[in-house]
Amino acid sequence: NNDLAGKDVTVLGLGKFGGGVATVRFLTERGARVTVIDAKSAEALQESLRQLENCSDVIFQLGDQSAELPTTQLLVANPAIPPDHGLLRNAALQQIPITSEIELFWQLNPGRVIGVTGSNGKSTTTAMIHSILKAAGHRCWLGGNIGISLLPELDQIQSEDWVVLELSSFQLEALNRIQASPQIAVVTNFSPNHLDWHQNLEHYRQSKQTILRWQTESDVAVLNQDDPELQTWRTAGSILTFGTHSDLSPDLLVDQNRFLLKDQSEILTPELHVPGAHNRCNAAAAILACRAAGIAVPELKLGLESFRGLPHRLEFVGEYQQRKFYNDSLATTPESAICALDAFQETPVILLAGGSDKQVDLSEFAHRFRSQTKATALMGQTGKLMFDSLSEPQGSDQKYGAVISQPHTSFENAFRWAFQQSSPGDVILLSPGCASYDWFSSFVARGERFRTLFQQLSEKDGAD
Ligand code: ADP
Repeated sequence: NNDLAGKDVTVLGLGKFGGGVATVRFLTERGARVTVIDAKSAEALQESLRQLENCSDVIFQLGDQSAELPTTQLLVANPAIPPDHGLLRNAALQQIPITSEIELFWQLNPGRVIGVTGSNGKSTTTAMIHSILKAAGHRCWLGGNIGISLLPELDQIQSEDWVVLELSSFQLEALNRIQASPQIAVVTNFSPNHLDWHQNLEHYRQSKQTILRWQTESDVAVLNQDDPELQTWRTAGSILTFGTHSDLSPDLLVDQNRFLLKDQSEILTPELHVPGAHNRCNAAAAILACRAAGIAVPELKLGLESFRGLPHRLEFVGEYQQRKFYNDSLATTPESAICALDAFQETPVILLAGGSDKQVDLSEFAHRFRSQTKATALMGQTGKLMFDSLSEPQGSDQKYGAVISQPHTSFENAFRWAFQQSSPGDVILLSPGCASYDWFSSFVARGERFRTLFQQLSEKDGAD
């Protein structure tokens, strides 16, 4: 990595999620002269730029759609840049080497890698694997597409450590260039996705299959057997399957809340905090990956039970007086809030819904919470709109005869009302289906307020 010293390196795409910032730091710390090109303006990138304030000799070309390639010996492309981007083509014509954050990391990483890809469930499965390994006392690292660059940690990663990476199809495309696949590769599922970036479905499939393509005999692939597409995927290593069909005898059978391991005829019945059938499949993938990493069954159970989900995304906050509290503040669209309701079909839900008005149609969401929840606390600008849209008489399709509140005047009032409506066994769910900007600076602030209110509620009880 010393060969970066004194080199001119161009970073194409700074981005907002840390990978670009970590790349620029990594390059400058090793003595490269860095130019950053990004079509977005300095204002749009201000968060990233602030983190680079002490990297003084970086040249920025921002907000220029027609920026030209400067003299450069290496181009580091953000994974979101499409392969037919003019500057990438230009660099290829000039035979300038092209790399990316994940390649830079991979080439220097001494640790063992568990890589996770798929069309859905990547982040959850990656975080779950990391959580299980950690609970079992292993040294492990979480990174990749999940929004964490591990470039700054390279000096601390040891050869016995597990590095758990979420890998997008874009990143896998980059790994194909260096013929790299993880020792343990997990594919959650495969469905058409990102066809705007990839030329076609075949290209997307080829990119995803990089996760297996360069595996060796001693490597392991964990595949979803329920997905017909994945049944045709091959590796030079061994395949472990999970699925819900006992007649296909997967290595791990998911049967409602039970996980049956074929090799040991062992049954695991962890109490998962992440709800819904899709999360049981994510847990199955995580179990097999961790088995392949040598984790014993009792440790698996502990690890699974310690996983509370990704922050602000159907995240389990805690339990108080037999009510479970979930923070899904990231659900800023009605579609994602409806998904959250669907994940709790087996449990009565008290919902906190509403927020700032993005002028989207909320009628389907309103219909769904009236038919599916036990009570819904309305909030914010859209709270009133939704309340008014429900003025027609209630139908007979309601599971619990939902009580819908008048729009609350504060988040605290909505929270208090939701708790008053609940009884033991219920779920209290913040999944607003709307943005947060009427009352909060961001969905993160809203989710944290929810967590604080939960803590205050449970502490108050402790003090009594
Ligand atoms: P990704 O990282 O692939 O975008 P996430 O783990 O962040 O996936 O989950 C995003 C959303 O996708 C979740 O809120 C959930 O609704 C859905 N999802 C999660 N896991 C699965 C799965 N195994 N199959 C289908 N949908 C899933």
